[in-house]
Amino acid sequence: MTENNNGVLVVVEVVGSQPIDLGLEMLALARRLTDSMGGTVTAVAFGTGLETTGGILTAYGADQVLINDNAIFANFHAEAWLPDLSKIIAEVAPAIVLIGHSESGTDLAPRLAFRLDVDVATGCESIDIINGRAHMTRGCFGGLAREVVTFTKTPALATIRSKTQEALSPMMERAGEVKQVSSILDVNSIRTRVVGREREKADGGVKMESAKIVIGGGLGLGGPEGFKTLNEIAELVDGAVGASRAACDLDWCPRSYQIGLSGRTVAPELYLAVGISGASHHMAGCGNSKTIVSVNSDPNAEIFKSSRFGIVGKSQEIMPALVEEIRKLKA
Ligand SMILES: Cc1cc2nc3c(=O)[nH]c(=O)nc-3n(C[C@H](O)[C@H](O)[C@H](O)COP(=O)(O)OP(=O)(O)OC[C@H]3O[C@@H](n4cnc5c(N)ncnc54)[C@H](O)[C@@H]3O)c2cc1C
Repeated sequence: MTENNNGVLVVVEVVGSQPIDLGLEMLALARRLTDSMGGTVTAVAFGTGLETTGGILTAYGADQVLINDNAIFANFHAEAWLPDLSKIIAEVAPAIVLIGHSESGTDLAPRLAFRLDVDVATGCESIDIINGRAHMTRGCFGGLAREVVTFTKTPALATIRSKTQEALSPMMERAGEVKQVSSILDVNSIRTRVVGREREKADGGVKMESAKIVIGGGLGLGGPEGFKTLNEIAELVDGAVGASRAACDLDWCPRSYQIGLSGRTVAPELYLAVGISGASHHMAGCGNSKTIVSVNSDPNAEIFKSSRFGIVGKSQEIMPALVEEIRKLKA
């Protein structure tokens, strides 16, 4: 069996012409990996209107950028991406392929692994090279433990959780090669058609992953009206609102708010957890926040163990008072 050994290939999602933060974070990881095992960092971007994307990806650490600028890739469609991506991977022969642990990435990665007949580790937090082979670390048993996995085949595919890596500072003068690749996609081979797209209201505000302040609400809010107060605070402080799975399950807020093992990962400067018990499944998505402050009526709530500051009290009394205080301060 021949082994791929040409460094790391990073699949970067692009919105407009701008790579998403997770793509830039993965480039930093790719640089660290190639420093240790050699080879080049290749970034791949699919989309349309990507004239400036190559320069950005080079500045953030790519040695080589392959741009597939085609109207068919304007919106993500796993089936449409697979033939081109498989071909690029066969040509570049990377030892490791990094894909974002996003909704698109978790759709794409297993399909790609199947097509390439290799293995994939999803939801990874870090990768180390041990004896020349990628070892992926990720949470298991509902976030209660960590496991390290490695594969015998190459390329090793991994989806990387957001905010587990820090993007490099951009160096606009960094040298890199930007190449346009042409698509081999036969549009008739696509068996599924996207008939409509609806943007969730939650995405209209500050994006949760890039917000400096995230306010998470749980069952202790007592109902959907509790989220109105959280949204008010988020607007005042330019933050974003998230939630526990339990609150999403009850439709108190959109599903896209869910933070945790099976939801989104955030690492803001401040995570304000309101009426959230602090289950490991939830903490898996916010445990890396710089400061956690929690509001809970139970002085023995688990969340207080991970919190820098804790307020024991009812969210229905504390949160409106907080809105008032912030308003006064802003005035
Ligand atoms: C495989 C798996 C994956 C999961 N993935 C996720 C995930 O991604 N994200 C996630 O969040 N969960 C996830 N869960 C569920 C998780 O285990 C918990 O059940 C969930 O996080 C609990 O949500 P909660 O804290 O809102 O509710 P609870 O655990 O019921 O906690 C409510 C808290 O509110 C407090 N409270 C009650 N009244 C008030 C009040 N008036 N004022 C203030 N505080 C009050 C209570 O003291 C309590 O601490 C997952 C579970 C499994 C099995």
